Amino acid sequence: MKISSTLLLFCTIFLPFSTNAEPSKKLQAVEGERFVIDLRYNTDDNFLKTNVYKPFGLDHCYVHPDLYSALKKAESQLKEKGLKLVFWDCYRPLKVQQAMWKIVPDHRYVANPKVGSNHNRGVAVDVSLAKEDGTPLSMPTLFDDFSAKASPNYRCGEAEKDKCENRDLLKKILTESGLEVLNSEWWHFQLPHAGKYPIIEDLNSK
Ligand SMILES: [Zn+2]
Repeated sequence: MKISSTLLLFCTIFLPFSTNAEPSKKLQAVEGERFVIDLRYNTDDNFLKTNVYKPFGLDHCYVHPDLYSALKKAESQLKEKGLKLVFWDCYRPLKVQQAMWKIVPDHRYVANPKVGSNHNRGVAVDVSLAKEDGTPLSMPTLFDDFSAKASPNYRCGEAEKDKCENRDLLKKILTESGLEVLNSEWWHFQLPHAGKYPIIEDLNSK
């Protein structure tokens, strides 16, 4: 009897909080033996030349559960091919988007925080491939290259054929897992209908 009343008290106190939580805003940590986390915005090695994640304490890859399910589908193909998926960027807090916009207020390079990026919704990732030992597979461009070569449709010349093959393999694995590639960035993959997901203000919403 005592246990029941304790349980009842517990439910009365805590249930309203759990039912008020918005499941669509939850983020999930990306974990797995096929996944390598290498957040470029948590280093100075990015086009902004500054660590924009450090002030916000973001040091891991978080995504929306729907995106996580799609990424998990890619694991068997990655294993079969002896490859790993390297994450350069995942969920990006809105405050980081604002900080990036302050540095580069140009929509050709950074999404305007007033509109938001699909990274702010937790439904986009920037990724590449690596071998089993972590050696990166060569791709047509580096991360955040703004040239025409960054398009997933760019056609490599004979000398760079292997780079386009690696890029196409990445695209094949992730599109078969249910994701779409951005037309201007071979490394950016997102859920279909990404815009229907709400923007998530910060990590505390996870
Ligand atoms: Zn991206």
